[in-house]
Amino acid sequence: PDVTLPELLYRSASDFPDNPAIIFLGHTLSYRRLKQSVWQAAAGLARLGFKPGQRLAMILPNCPQTVITYYATLHLGGIIVMLNPLAAPREILDQIQRTEADTVVALDHVAPKVEEVRKALNLKHLIIASLADYLPVPWKWLYNFRARRKGQQVGPRPGTGQMSFQDLLTDHAPPALAASSSDVAILQHTGGTTGLPKAAALTHRNLVSNVAQINAWLPHCQRGGERVLAVLPYFHVFGMTASMNWPINLAGAILLLPRFDAAQVLKTIHQRRPTVFPAAPTIFIALINHPHLRRYDLSSLWGCISGSAPLPQDVQEQFEALTKGRIIEGYGLTETSPVTHLNPIAGKRRPGSIGLPFPNTSCRIVDAESGLIDLPPGDVGELLLRGPQVMAEYWQNPEETALALRHGWFYTGDLARMDEDGFFYIVDRKKDIIIASGYNIYPREVEEVLHQHPAVQDAVAFGVPDAYRGETVMAVVVPKPGMPVTAPDLFDFCRQRLAVYKTPKIIEFRRELPKTAVGKVLRRELRAEAEAKLK
Ligand code: ATP
Repeated sequence: PDVTLPELLYRSASDFPDNPAIIFLGHTLSYRRLKQSVWQAAAGLARLGFKPGQRLAMILPNCPQTVITYYATLHLGGIIVMLNPLAAPREILDQIQRTEADTVVALDHVAPKVEEVRKALNLKHLIIASLADYLPVPWKWLYNFRARRKGQQVGPRPGTGQMSFQDLLTDHAPPALAASSSDVAILQHTGGTTGLPKAAALTHRNLVSNVAQINAWLPHCQRGGERVLAVLPYFHVFGMTASMNWPINLAGAILLLPRFDAAQVLKTIHQRRPTVFPAAPTIFIALINHPHLRRYDLSSLWGCISGSAPLPQDVQEQFEALTKGRIIEGYGLTETSPVTHLNPIAGKRRPGSIGLPFPNTSCRIVDAESGLIDLPPGDVGELLLRGPQVMAEYWQNPEETALALRHGWFYTGDLARMDEDGFFYIVDRKKDIIIASGYNIYPREVEEVLHQHPAVQDAVAFGVPDAYRGETVMAVVVPKPGMPVTAPDLFDFCRQRLAVYKTPKIIEFRRELPKTAVGKVLRRELRAEAEAKLK
C-alpha cells in the first residue's frame, strides 16, 4: 500500500510492456504505449502550469483519455474529481465549485454543458477529448459526421479557448513523480442515492489498499494473463477500482466500453473472451433478459463481481449458468474505496450474503439508535467499518465527517446482521426504513416479495406520510412486457406473504424506475413525487 497509483501502472509497464493494456473500439494500447501517453499528458499538464494539490475534473465516459488523464494528473500530485458525463449543468457547477477544480477535461459532446456554467467557475483550462480520436480514419469521419448531424459538438469549439486533448500530449519528459501514498488522490462524490452527494477524500493509500485486498481475495488471478471487461463507469468508485486500478495492477487487458449497451456487452464477451467481469445487478439483469442471449458464448468468464446493490438470487443463478465460474456478490461504499466485503470465489455459498470482510477490515454491528452498543450475531444494527481503505474525510465538510467518522469507526448508514460463521447480510439503509404504526418495515423485504410475482420486472417500496399510521407503504412496480397485472392482484399476492402492516397500501405502475448511474433506484425522487401528489 505504500506505493502511489501511477506506480501500479509503471510496474506493469516494466514487467509486461507489450501486453495489451486497453482495447477500445478495436484499437489496442500496449502497456508501453499507455505509460508513454500518461507521461506525455503529464508533461503537457505541467507545461500548462499544473501543480501538486491542484484539482482536475474529468467529465468523460470510459475511454483511453480517462485512463491517461487519471494517471497523468496523479503523477503530478494532482487531485481528481470524476463527474458523470450525463450530469446536468447545475450538477457540474456544484461539483466543480465544491472541489475548486480549475482544470477540466471533458468529452466534446459534453463541452456545451460546461460552457453553460463556465462564467460562474474559475476555470484555467478546458481540455476537450473526443471518442473519435481512437477510431481508424473512415470510422472517425463517419462518427463525426453523425455527431454533427445530431447537432453535437465535435472536438474543441474554435474561439472559446478550449484546447484539444491531443495537443496536451507533448514529447517532453514529465517532471518526476510528485505524489506520495498519503496524498489525497480523488475527491469522489457519493452516489447521491439518499441525498445531496458529498465528496469523499480518498488517498493513494486508500485506493491501493483496496487493490491489494482484492488481489489477496483472488490469489489465483494470473498477473499479465487476465482480461477484464470494463463497462462499469470509471466516474463511480466501483468501476475505478475494480475495472481500472485493479486490472492495471494485474497487467491485465482492459476491454473498455464507453457506455452500457447489452448487445454490445454480449458481443464483446463472445468475441474478446474476457475472464473477469465486475458489474452491478442491473447489468446482469439486462444481459439475461436480452432476446438474443443464446447466440453468445459467455464461457470465457471465470469470475464476475457484483456490487453496489443487492443481487437477486435468480439473476445470480441464471447468469452463472452461462459462464465458467461464479458471480460473487460484494459490498462497499464510495467512502471505502469501495470494497469491504466479498463472497468467496470457491466453497459453500450463503444466499443473500455480501460475504466476509476483506483482510485488514474490521466490522462491528451496533445498536442503530445509540450507535455504541455492540450486538450479538443474528441481530440487526448499523454496520461500522475500519480499514486502510476508509476515507480520511468528506472534503471541506467537517459536519458530515464528524457524523460519519466517530470513535475511529466509519458509520455506514446501512443496517446489517452477521451470522454465526461471520458472513454479513445487508438488511436495508437506515434512511429508508418505513415506520408505520410504530412498526419498522424494511422496504427490501417488501420488494423481494413483489419481485417473486411472475409479472413483475422491477419494484421499489418506500414510505409516504399517512395521517393515521404516521407512514404507510407505497410501491412502484414495472410490469413485464405483455404480462398484465393489476394493483388488486399484487395486494393479494403481498398479503399472502407479508404481515398486514407491511403490505403496500398504494401501488403505482410505471414503465421504468428512475435510477442512478450505477443502477440504484432513486427512492427519494419517487417518494417526493408521491408526497406532492398526496398533498
Ligand atoms: P449517497 O451516499 O450519496 O446516498 P450511495 O449510497 O448510492 O449515495 P455509494 O457509495 O455509491 O453511494 O453506495 C453505497 C451504498 O450502496 C451502501 O451504503 C449500500 O447501501 C449500497 N450497497 C452496496 N453494495 C450493496 C450490496 N451488495 N447489497 C446491498 N446494498 C449495497
